[in-house]
Amino acid sequence: MEQTINAYDSVLDLIGNTPLVKLTKSTANLQGNFYAKVEAFNPGHSTKDRIASFIIDQAERKGILKKGSTIIETTSGNTGFSLAMVSIIKGYDCILAVSSKSSKDKIDMLRTMGAKVYVCPAHVSADDPRSYYEVAKRLHKETKGSVYINQYFNELNIDAHYHSTGPEIWEQTNGNITHLVACSGTGGTISGIARYLKEKNSDIKVLGVDAFGSVLKKYHETMEFDENEIYPYRIEGLGKNLIPDSTDFKVIDEFIKVTDEESAHAARELARTEGIFAGYTSGAAMQAIKQFNELGKFDKDSNVVVIFPDHGSRYMSKIYSDEWMEAQGFNESAEVKEEIQSVQ
Ligand code: PMP
Repeated sequence: MEQTINAYDSVLDLIGNTPLVKLTKSTANLQGNFYAKVEAFNPGHSTKDRIASFIIDQAERKGILKKGSTIIETTSGNTGFSLAMVSIIKGYDCILAVSSKSSKDKIDMLRTMGAKVYVCPAHVSADDPRSYYEVAKRLHKETKGSVYINQYFNELNIDAHYHSTGPEIWEQTNGNITHLVACSGTGGTISGIARYLKEKNSDIKVLGVDAFGSVLKKYHETMEFDENEIYPYRIEGLGKNLIPDSTDFKVIDEFIKVTDEESAHAARELARTEGIFAGYTSGAAMQAIKQFNELGKFDKDSNVVVIFPDHGSRYMSKIYSDEWMEAQGFNESAEVKEEIQSVQ
């Protein structure tokens, strides 16, 4: 009898093809039309599912990976989760070397997804044999047939978005996109999408989001690495203290920097106004849109696509905790306090 059950073979079939959602209330006072690419709809709840599946597929095609092979990476964040998820389904071991700064929740989550997690001291320099970079490199050398994803120095990170996120946005907007706004960490997302879109229409403006405390904006403007730009900040996944190979600075028109505080408020505002429960960097991207709008980057005919990289559930003990916000001194404005109280 013919199979009539409508089911996916695994969650891997659900990666990509994320929806574009029109933003209304949160952008009511801005010039232009705004659409969010909500990457939390991926099965691993972030855009990193795309690079995990793409890089692993490429390694399989080249014959590097076989059943039982090992995937190695240095992240406790979204990439780690996505790699663990893809590894489970494809039958690979997944080893993640993470910093002892990573929260227990994150480490528990990775172990739940079947990853072997090495917790490495945070206080040592990157070239110390105990650092998570060095531990990952050593494990890669020692483990025959292993693949070291190395997302900051892997061109396939860009290719993943060139082949999926970029074409999806082009099709979803019927080619009518005028601006892309995206956060840059490894730079894979913004670079891959931008390469694709600019091949289609070189007039599309690509606006990058960077953090205060990161070197990317200054490097883009001067092509020089300025150590003085580096200081601690709270937003995870945004900005960097090195220049990643996985960023194609040529396809990015300009960067803007956003603060921890304004980004946190913008993320909370997204939940309140659009019903979209997104991560900290989605708030950063919204904050960047407000700043670009003030700089007169958009007009009434602009069709702006903004990337929301992950889901809000990963930030419950941070930006979505009133106690955490208070401890950082990130107080709600009197206007917002009144609005929140009126609905309680
Ligand atoms: N937001 C979050 C939450 C992330 O984890 C990352 C990845 N570091 C980014 C944004 C930036 O994406 P990309 O690394 O592709 O630049």
